[in-house]
Amino acid sequence: MQMPDWAARGQPHIWLPYAQMKTATPPLPVVRSHGSRLELADGRSLIDGVASWWTACHGYNHPHIAQAVRAQLEAMPHVMFGGLTHEPALTLARRLAGLLGPGLDRVFYTDSGSVAVEVAMKMALQFWLNQGERGRDRFLAFRGGYHGDTFGTMAVCDPEDGMHSLFRGMLAEHDILDLPRGDAELAALEAHLDKHGERLAGILVEPLVQGAGGMLLHSPEVLRRLRRLADRHGLLLIFDEIFTGFGRTGTMFAFEQAGIRPDILTLSKALTGGTLPLAATVASSRVFDAFWSDDPSHALMHGPTFMGNALACAAANASLDLFETEPRLAQAAAISEALAAGLEPCRELGWVRDVRVLGAIGVVELDGIADREGLKRRLVEAGVWVRPFGNVVYLTPALTIGEDELASLMRAVAGVLGRQRP
Ligand SMILES: *Cc1c(COP(=O)(O)O)cnc(C)c1O
Repeated sequence: MQMPDWAARGQPHIWLPYAQMKTATPPLPVVRSHGSRLELADGRSLIDGVASWWTACHGYNHPHIAQAVRAQLEAMPHVMFGGLTHEPALTLARRLAGLLGPGLDRVFYTDSGSVAVEVAMKMALQFWLNQGERGRDRFLAFRGGYHGDTFGTMAVCDPEDGMHSLFRGMLAEHDILDLPRGDAELAALEAHLDKHGERLAGILVEPLVQGAGGMLLHSPEVLRRLRRLADRHGLLLIFDEIFTGFGRTGTMFAFEQAGIRPDILTLSKALTGGTLPLAATVASSRVFDAFWSDDPSHALMHGPTFMGNALACAAANASLDLFETEPRLAQAAAISEALAAGLEPCRELGWVRDVRVLGAIGVVELDGIADREGLKRRLVEAGVWVRPFGNVVYLTPALTIGEDELASLMRAVAGVLGRQRP
């Protein structure tokens, strides 16, 4: 396609995410978004199957969020959160605590998911130190997991398949095991905890779906097992709901489906409805109480410059309004049914290994993708924005996507995958 002038002139100065700059296809210039549509500089319109890395749960440009952000911009875009506070941040904290239910009621704001996980890890480590217990400096995390790109979080991602194996010797060492899906994994985990439980600070997991690690699903029973093991060994259980939060798995939060609660929970991606960067680490009173002290050294020493950004908090409050006033969870349920039916034909293809759906997440796992750039190009030519990674092609559309658009999206994916082995 003909690149607009700003793209041609700016491209030599940009460094793109997860991209070999020499060989990667140049990114598509987008000039406008609305609903589930991305409008390209050359006038083409794509149906978005990714909701911009799972953030735009209400579709793009929802007027209610735009209005809230505009009003906040006029009143006060941002003030430092050290020593100052404001209504959008405190109202959001109260509302998140209300949604998460009893026991998860202390909100610490950051501006990205990775940093929210870093804060969760710092909280868990210091939880023990503040109680005078030394030597609990490791986390138990799981194969297939993804928790971020910063140095602390890289160390709790899947060590083999993850994107960070290059840095192995430079990262803190943690215990990475298989999720206890079956009895054998459960026994291995129990044995590991019996032997090494006393050097652990906590257990970290993405509940129900390991997202960026391969869109791998597990049952609520796995989470109940982790809760029981954490309790038996006195460990903190941390749920990373950065991907799963806000309706993506069919319930507002994934942990609800297991009927148990974590001690710390992280949120980001859809928190502001895909408009502004914001993340939250939410602690239980058990965790918070370990920091409540007359000793200044027991304070949590963390405070991002843009912590509690008022624009982002206003956007998040507006996003929560929409969960109250519009039928998001019913829409997620309808998408779930449509995905299950619409992706089913892919199962027949010789190169498809698995088709799986949970909530508004539809996954087609292939034996392999030999030419990912070619596959992406064919998807764009079919009029959809879908971003395959590893062996998977997945759909995580806006929860507001129209029935017809979702049908077109799935037809395009099934068509492109069916025409040739990718
Ligand atoms: C995306 C993601 C992160 C990292 O969030 P960033 O905002 O990209 O730093 C962490 N955990 C999970 C489960 C994620 O999906």
